[in-house]
Amino acid sequence: RKTVAIIGSGIAGIATAIRLAAKGFRVTIFEANSSPGGKLSEFELEGYRFDAGPSLFTMPHFVEELFLIAGKNPADYIAYGKLPVICEYFYEDGTHIRAYSDPEKFAEEIEQKTGQSKKSVLSYLKQSAFKYEVTANLFLKRSLHKLSTWLNLDAIRGYWNLPKLDVFQTLNEVNERHFQDPRVVQLFNRYATYNGSNPYETPGIMHIIPHLEYNVGAFFPAKGMYNITQSLVRLAEDMGVLFCYNTRINEIVVLNNKAVGVRPNKIDGRPAPTYESFDVVVSNMDIVNTYRKLLPHVAAPTRILEQPKSSSALIFYWGITRSFFELDLHNIFFSKDYQHEFDCLFHKQTISNDPTIYINITSKYKPDDAPSGCENWFTMINVPNNSGQDWDGLIDEARRNIILKLSRILKTDISKLIACEYIQDPRTIEARTSSSQGALYGISSNNRYAAFLRHDNKSSKVKNLYFVGGSVHPGGGIPLSLLSAKIAAGMVKEPI
Ligand code: FAD
Repeated sequence: RKTVAIIGSGIAGIATAIRLAAKGFRVTIFEANSSPGGKLSEFELEGYRFDAGPSLFTMPHFVEELFLIAGKNPADYIAYGKLPVICEYFYEDGTHIRAYSDPEKFAEEIEQKTGQSKKSVLSYLKQSAFKYEVTANLFLKRSLHKLSTWLNLDAIRGYWNLPKLDVFQTLNEVNERHFQDPRVVQLFNRYATYNGSNPYETPGIMHIIPHLEYNVGAFFPAKGMYNITQSLVRLAEDMGVLFCYNTRINEIVVLNNKAVGVRPNKIDGRPAPTYESFDVVVSNMDIVNTYRKLLPHVAAPTRILEQPKSSSALIFYWGITRSFFELDLHNIFFSKDYQHEFDCLFHKQTISNDPTIYINITSKYKPDDAPSGCENWFTMINVPNNSGQDWDGLIDEARRNIILKLSRILKTDISKLIACEYIQDPRTIEARTSSSQGALYGISSNNRYAAFLRHDNKSSKVKNLYFVGGSVHPGGGIPLSLLSAKIAAGMVKEPI
């Protein structure tokens, strides 16, 4: 059987392994950490369980597809349900909007709370669906580096509808065109952060993102987000995929312009063996570090690697000794001046003193994630990617501002409720997952050419070498990382 080495057990690495095992390859995954999942991992702290990274699960059918191609029943591996409420939005002026997953109810809630007409919200969501349908097959499900992508019916439909796709406007301009109420504009501007971008710069085509939540749905796995990783690892193992943990790969071995193996770190101080018998190598490591660290002798596509990166995150994982009836699984506490916040993030490379705060509380749906009567708060703000800022100083200041803001809006001194704490920042995200500058989603989508500036899923220089994950085409986030695996696995032919 032909063999594949996959570097990294992020969601895309595991999905690629499943797809290639289903094609008949013998697959080995090398993972630097002691457990799988990369950003999609979990940990426990003094009786509280936390999902470390992703908290919002959309497009679950991309996960289900992996079980189906393996001939398995997804329900034997993972259970998840659709959320009735997607998010609770809190504003400084006291407005509280409950984002129901039912578009009709959500639009009614917006009309009631802001006066923005129900009709305008529904037509916005309808246009979001239209734009997704016109662009998804073209930009998300195929390699952009193949001529066939640009010469088929989906492409022709895309060219025909170009004027309706708002690619020449920013997301904020699209939203201001649709809505008069600034709170509604802010709510829909937030979707730019789903790929770590700036709503005042990212193209209006990002209007497709709300479609995924309101027309398709937001979901939660019954055993927490990490169960996505666990269930896929179990499936991969059932298919014979071999996982080698605590094994950091230092080099992709290239001979005669062909990837032929991988070289791991020294093991217990002894020289590392070289695994030179692989027919295909797939890197799930961030693309910048794949070139810089694993392919020192291959000319790097500098223009692509130097594209500005997406934002990162600062997360306070707090065990909270009380429960809050007004909060749900996903909660947002908006800043007063959203534009200033993004100006700080992307132009000043710092954190505003009034950041928008996101709190994820899985114990609302999975009570055993916290002791009885308590809650596990994943309290996150968007921060710039790591360019050597004084993070310790910024974290202290942000922590103070976050506690003040939450205490004011929730009318309780939050600092007194924090029983335990763990902090993650761009430096630790980079160290744990090799993500360049700790960016959450690879390059930012702050210009309209970003889609074309993501690295392809296949090397144009080295044969039998492929790239998957959130830093390459089609982009970051669980659904797109899974699509990167689908595109890459689709390109792997019997090796030359
Ligand atoms: P990664 O998760 O980046 O993992 C890469 C793996 O490769 C790691 O395990 C790493 O150890 C391993 N590795 C790297 N280099 C080597 C090497 N040389 N040798 C061996 N192993 C190596 N997405 C969503 O869809 N919804 C969300 O709500 C969401 N929120 C997020 C919140 C946070 C705080 C973070 C950090 C991310 C969030 N994301 C979210 C983004 C999402 O987590 C990522 O896009 C996705 O998980 C990326 O997966 P990946 O396959 O690229 O691999």
